[in-house]
Parts: sequence; structure tokens; C-alpha cells
Amino acid sequence: MIKLTNVLLRTNDFLVLGAGIQGICIALELAKNGKSVTIIDQDSKPFNRASLRNEGKIHLGLVYMNDPSFATPTLMLKASMRFRKSLERWIGDQSYQLGLSNPFYYLVAKDSFLNPEQLTERYKKMEELFKTYTSEHPDWDYLGTKPMYLTKRISDKKSEDLFGKEVVQAAFETAEYSVDTELLGKHLTEALLSNPLITFCPNHRITKICKENEVLSVTGFMANKEFTIKSKHVINATWEGKFALDKSFGIAKPKDLLHRLKYRVMVKIDPELLNRPSATMVIGKYGDVVIKKDGTAYLSWYPAGCLGWSNEVSPPESWNAPSTGNVSKEEAATLSATYLEEIEKWFPGIKKSKPYLVDGAAIVAYGKTDVDDNQSMLHDRTNIGLKTYGGNYHSIDTGKLTTAPMFAVESVASILNLI
Ligand SMILES: Cc1cc2nc3c(=O)[nH]c(=O)nc-3n(C[C@H](O)[C@H](O)[C@H](O)COP(=O)(O)OP(=O)(O)OC[C@H]3O[C@@H](n4cnc5c(N)ncnc54)[C@H](O)[C@@H]3O)c2cc1C
Repeated sequence: MIKLTNVLLRTNDFLVLGAGIQGICIALELAKNGKSVTIIDQDSKPFNRASLRNEGKIHLGLVYMNDPSFATPTLMLKASMRFRKSLERWIGDQSYQLGLSNPFYYLVAKDSFLNPEQLTERYKKMEELFKTYTSEHPDWDYLGTKPMYLTKRISDKKSEDLFGKEVVQAAFETAEYSVDTELLGKHLTEALLSNPLITFCPNHRITKICKENEVLSVTGFMANKEFTIKSKHVINATWEGKFALDKSFGIAKPKDLLHRLKYRVMVKIDPELLNRPSATMVIGKYGDVVIKKDGTAYLSWYPAGCLGWSNEVSPPESWNAPSTGNVSKEEAATLSATYLEEIEKWFPGIKKSKPYLVDGAAIVAYGKTDVDDNQSMLHDRTNIGLKTYGGNYHSIDTGKLTTAPMFAVESVASILNLI
């Protein structure tokens, strides 16, 4: 029960804002620690925004080779090795059933700003990090697999046979996979809704957070009625909604905050492509093809599919439509045609696919310039994770799908430590 205009609900001690992967995993981890939790979201169901509409790649760090500090790939590698194990805490053996894609090949574009030799050197460093991590953590796994290596360059002949030579200059086989975000969402939603310690409140749009006498007050609207919920601890996991809510609490907008709206095109592929590897083109403004075992594929092509750019504290309202699956037929048709045309140049055969779904989601990051600038802050994704203000307002920047389960375990440990 929530306050509608005059009624005030005092929840248990933990209120989680946002039911994407991050909020759900935090709620489940709090419940695992015996805490009663309320979780609220503006949407009618959990797992309906960025967590559903993304590529599902569980990053081994290989796309972040342009971070000179190597901090981003190191963080991704660690998070990816903890991804399944963290999920196991909440969904048990279903953590082995995440609908893995075909493994990724990394295609080095002819105008990549790192050439194949430079990439080979950096991948070697990743291999060393991987060896250190796996020897220090004997119980590790990556999505249930135990790869012997992370990358291996394939012959130029094989690269040419698979990807042509118009756009691609070299290719690496990798141990990286995507998960099926729909399946992941199904497992997590079932665990959330069936947990007796968790109450999920849908259709609650939050507008403000403030503090009175050590208790936090969260205000917003359900339909057209105002609600207020009071709680000892509030955990803000609202992704593109996070910084506006932080601001309402008095936290300044971070410098260089950037929201980008990126579209995906889902297709049914020609059966001849079923055994082909998935592919990511590096390093610059390119795209991906994720081949799934059910005969579908996820396509992205950044030059045509990044259709929103905002340095405001939150993205424009107009992004809500694609972020909840509402894209006009005309826009979907235009985008699909461009994606198939462009991707055919480096993934021959994709043009025979039949598009069946087009939508988008917001990416939250920091930067002024785009990924094709090798100095762009977008190559560094380490400014993420949990921050606590005043002892009981906790706000989390998820960073990636990859990092969310690990952050949930670490964040709850940190919050409970404060009590
Ligand atoms: C196109 C695309 C591709 C990506 N590819 C990958 C990838 O391959 N691998 C990877 O690791 N990461 C990827 N990411 C990033 C990944 O999707 C996100 O990091 C992750 O899903 C964020 O999870 P979240 O729970 O924080 O956000 P969300 O899933 O968006 O959940 C936030 C929730 O908060 C709710 N909310 C927001 N504001 C309010 C409000 N004011 N009131 C009430 N509720 C609110 C929303 O409704 C939503 O349910 C990609 C992102 C995009 C957009």
C-alpha cells in the first residue's frame, strides 16, 4: 500500500528505486540477507527497459582496449567471471540457462584506430590478467564455461571467407558470449515476484527524494495521484532516471554526463547462418551481430542506430517510447533496411534476414565526444558502482549489464555494513 495524496506509507527499512537488472539483484540480495524490501518502478512490469533491450554481451573487457589504464577491461573481466555465480545466489541452477549466443569473433575494421598488431599486444595483456584472475580464484567460471584462452587471431583466409575484405582487415576468435536478455529477465522477475520478503510496486513514477529527521521521503505519481513513501534506506537504481533523482536530493549533476539512445534490430536469420560466429567490429563507431541458437539475431549499427544524444541531467521524455518498445512502422522499416545494407558489407548473408522487432534504450556514460575519438571518455567505464550519501541514501550507476550482479552483491554488503 502506498500513499495516494494524503495517505503515507512507511515501508520496511529498504526501498529500491528501479526494477531493472540492478534494482532486482539488489532487492534479491537484501532479501537473501533476511531484509524486507519494497521495490518500485514507473513501468507496469520489471525488467522492461535497458536491461531487456541491450545486446546481452557479458564483457570480457575486449572492447575496451583503448583505455590506456586498462582499468575498464580489468573491471569487466572480473565482473564477467562473477556474473553467473552472483546470479546463482538468487536464481540457482537457472544461472546456467541464460541462452548463450554463438561466441564472438572480433573484426578489426580497416579504419580501426588500433591495428591488428596493436590489438594482439593488448589482448596478450588481457590473457595475463585472465591467468592471474583464474589462478587466484580457482572456483571461477565465465557463464558456466572454462575457456582456455580469451582471444586467438584467425588466418586472413578464414577472415576473408567469413567476413569479406571490403571492411575487415583481420579477425580474432574469442571466448565471449551474449546472454538472452529475455530469458535472464524471466528468471530474475520470477525470483523477485515470488520472494515473500519483497514487495514490487509497479506504475510509480518517482520525482523527488528528500531527507527529514534521518528518514528518506520518496515522492512521485501513480496514475495522476501523488504518493510518498518513507524509508530508512533508499537505493536509487533507476539508470537514466538516476541523476535527476540525485539532483532532487541535492547532488550535483556530474560533469560530462552523457545519455545516448541506441536502437536494436532483431531479425530471424537465414538457416545458413545458424552456425556462424557472432561478431563485434572494433575499434570505433561500428556494430555487432549476435547469432542466437533459436535462429534469431540481434543487430546494431552505431552510425545509423545512435539516434539520441543528451548532456542534460536526464534524457528527453521522447526517449520513453522506443525504450518501452514503441517505434513507428516507418522508422522500424527504415532502420532495419539500413542495418541490413551496412552489416551485409562485413557479415555476408545477413541481408536475407527478416526483421521482427525494432526498439531502443538509453546508454548512460560520461563523455563529450563519440567513440570514434580515441581520446573520448567513453573508452573509460570505471566511474561506476555505488555511492552513499549521508549514511542512508545510496545511488548506483550500473555501468553495464555485465557489472550489475557483482555490484549488487558488493553494494548490499557495503550498505549492511553501515547498519
Ligand atoms: C543498446 C544497448 C546495448 C547495450 N549492450 C550491453 C552489452 O552488450 N553488455 C553490457 O554489459 N551492457 C550493455 N548495455 C548496458 C546495459 O543495458 C545497462 O548497463 C543495464 O541494463 C542497466 O541496468 P539498470 O537496471 O541500471 O537499468 P534499467 O534496466 O533501465 O532499469 C532501470 C529501471 O528504473 C526505472 N526508472 C527510471 N526512472 C524512474 C523514475 N523516475 N521512476 C520510477 N522508475 C524509474 C525504469 O523504468 C527501469 O525499469 C547496453 C545498453 C544499451 C542501451
